[in-house]
Amino acid sequence: MLSSPITPFIFKNNFYHVKRDDFLTPFEGNKARKLYYFLKRNFPKIKKVISFGSNQSNAMYAISQLCKIKGWEFIYYTNHIPSFLKQNPHGNYLEALKNGMKIIEIDLRGDDLREFVLGLKDKNTLIIEEGGRIKESEEGIKILANEINEYCLKNSLKVFLPSGTGTTAYFLAKHLKVEVITTPCVGDSKYLKKQFDMLGGGKTPTIIEPRKKYHYGKLYKNLYNLWCELKIAGIEFDLLYDPIGWDSLLYHNLQNILYIHQGGIRGNISMLKRYKRKFG
Ligand SMILES: *Cc1c(COP(=O)(O)O)cnc(C)c1O
Repeated sequence: MLSSPITPFIFKNNFYHVKRDDFLTPFEGNKARKLYYFLKRNFPKIKKVISFGSNQSNAMYAISQLCKIKGWEFIYYTNHIPSFLKQNPHGNYLEALKNGMKIIEIDLRGDDLREFVLGLKDKNTLIIEEGGRIKESEEGIKILANEINEYCLKNSLKVFLPSGTGTTAYFLAKHLKVEVITTPCVGDSKYLKKQFDMLGGGKTPTIIEPRKKYHYGKLYKNLYNLWCELKIAGIEFDLLYDPIGWDSLLYHNLQNILYIHQGGIRGNISMLKRYKRKFG
């Protein structure tokens, strides 16, 4: 179930190696790694999962798959569902609803929302934090590290991946013998360092700065164009994290890289809709 190929990728006259975690099933990308712990174990007492985050989150969709497989109820808190989305459900939102997710709008955000959801824990309930930022993620990400460690050593490669919560990059750095490089896509470098500390500190990934400050989830023509170029070159990446990742990689001219494709293709449907509406 876990284990994906590494494929060659030529982009802008440079040679890259790409770890294709987008091919993983039943969930794709790093969410498959993060939820592996829950998938492979039995939890006789658990009847439901509660999570929270944005209304089109890749993690939300992956958790809905997990709950469907396990026969668990899935409750998801978000602070806003736009009326456009309610009337035209699509992307991760639609697919998660199809899997039986109950989504609840709540007028809380940030730490307040987190505290509220953590307070809902009982013996029959599993809480999975936003984006799968949980220590249980380590087990699946360690397997990813084991799959690429020898390959990187043999080919003198560094590992690169864009970060949201930084959980994937953090546990990769912990378990790999080669350098792990990442760039922040959600907050700034300070936010990312804080995430690494919260996960346990120690050996942490190298952070490179993006070319400029990109706001998470905002639409940028140059990033869309880059995404199209990547697709024409042969690989569809996600539209939220990977364009910032590749833009940073090119900006810093990093060489000898194994790029981790962390999935997220389903989420592209909603991003593409937004790009079409904004830029035509
Ligand atoms: C969730 C996700 C990320 C961010 O992963 P973190 O472990 O939170 O840093 C990056 N790329 C894709 C495609 C994702 O779905």
